[in-house]
Amino acid sequence: MTADTRPAVVWFRDDLRVADNPALDVAARTGRPVVCLYIRDDESPGVRPLGGAARWWLHHSLTALAAGLDDVGARLVVRSGPAEAELAALIAELQPAALYWNRRYGAAERRIDTAVKASAREAGIEAESFGANLLFEPWTIRTGSGTPFSVFTPFWRACLSAPAPRKPLAAPQALTAGPSVDGLTVDDLDLLPTRPDWAGGLRETWEPGERAAHADLDRFVTDALARYRDDRDVPGVDGTSRLSPRLRWGELSPHQVWHAVAGARDRDDAAANSAATFLSELGWREFAHHTLFEHPDLATVNIHREYDSFPWPRLHPSVLHAWQQGRTGVPLVDAGMRELWRTGVMHNRVRMVVASFLTKNLLIDWRRGEEWFWDTLVDADAANNPFNWQWVAGSGADAAPYFRVFNPELQRTKFDPHGDYVRRWVPEWDTGDYPEPIVDLGESRRAALAAYDTVKKAG
Ligand code: FAD
Repeated sequence: MTADTRPAVVWFRDDLRVADNPALDVAARTGRPVVCLYIRDDESPGVRPLGGAARWWLHHSLTALAAGLDDVGARLVVRSGPAEAELAALIAELQPAALYWNRRYGAAERRIDTAVKASAREAGIEAESFGANLLFEPWTIRTGSGTPFSVFTPFWRACLSAPAPRKPLAAPQALTAGPSVDGLTVDDLDLLPTRPDWAGGLRETWEPGERAAHADLDRFVTDALARYRDDRDVPGVDGTSRLSPRLRWGELSPHQVWHAVAGARDRDDAAANSAATFLSELGWREFAHHTLFEHPDLATVNIHREYDSFPWPRLHPSVLHAWQQGRTGVPLVDAGMRELWRTGVMHNRVRMVVASFLTKNLLIDWRRGEEWFWDTLVDADAANNPFNWQWVAGSGADAAPYFRVFNPELQRTKFDPHGDYVRRWVPEWDTGDYPEPIVDLGESRRAALAAYDTVKKAG
């Protein structure tokens, strides 16, 4: 009898890392040759096509993943097309013994994964999925009566009393590469902008990939964590971790981040308060993903359906453009929108302010803002993005009440008192060349509250 040398296939998706990758770890432990696979399947039915900034990140992160796999003896096979069909073709070609992947939580993606698992098992292939990208699987955190939480504080309390997140797994030392199969190059995926190449600001700001992600995490824990609680709301200070794209693409797992921060907390009293605040931000990421799991239409449908009757007026497209381009005449809003366009991220405090300004002062449907962020953020995330838009708009889970309209001028004087942040992104702000606001902040606030009365009556 000949030895069974059939390979194990690891299907990478939102987990572009070699370390703490349960699917890769299990494949390595089988001792079988390993075939590492990435499929660009964002044009599959129901799957939301990636935005431009996300595509840029993916290109570079895949390139880094291929190099990381090469270091441990494996090769990344890249394909493009509907995942089910691509996997069926690869299975026919390779006759693998096993297929492993780490879970994702969007509805279309789950549907695809369930179908793939069923057809692989039917073909006699071991098919297993693993929890890797959340600290707590959505179906494990439940209220006393077995329902999902809709309010953050009790949700996070329940998470903290659940079994603690497991320790990160080490990267496999050496893999046996599987048989060579045809694939595309990362370039063939056509992810980078060419005409025009607008990604200069992203290149200046980021180095995608697992190695750089670990350097960012180390730097944050060593230099900034102890001051996080005080600095996190000040956009002019580099006071937050900037790990959101790392988590979005899975260059880091939340387990790695959790243990790095919890370890610092246990070693150093000065970091303790900040660590609890920081970990609860990871908690919001969990809450957003659990909410997506329960509300698959999070990006398009109000969680609180009474908001369906909100009378969004029809505004001239130039108003939305002014917001997108950072030309509203409201300094903190313009600074945020320009930071976003240039760097692919925006400070959290400012994200809340620009979202409130769009949905309340400009009375533009939150979905238009969500779509713009989806296209321009490198951390654009199917859970965090719509969840937070609905939170600001008032229609979401544990949302800010609609009548809480951020005053962007008060926010600026409170959180950017010396104008460091605004001046960095809007250099013309105090030169006399800066326009008046496109809306009167007081009047537009009153109009928003009047519109909200319709929702209250519907509720
Ligand atoms: P830190 O303060 O260092 O926080 C650590 C991590 O916690 C973050 O990397 C992130 O993974 C998580 N986190 C922090 N705040 C939140 C939050 N409110 N909701 C969910 N997770 C959070 N975050 C995204 O990752 N992708 C998005 O598409 C996204 N869209 C947003 C849209 C709006 C309108 C708003 C108000 C917020 C949005 N956020 C989104 C949440 C938040 O602004 C970013 O996660 C944060 O600014 C990233 O910076 P950081 O990594 O330095 O955060």
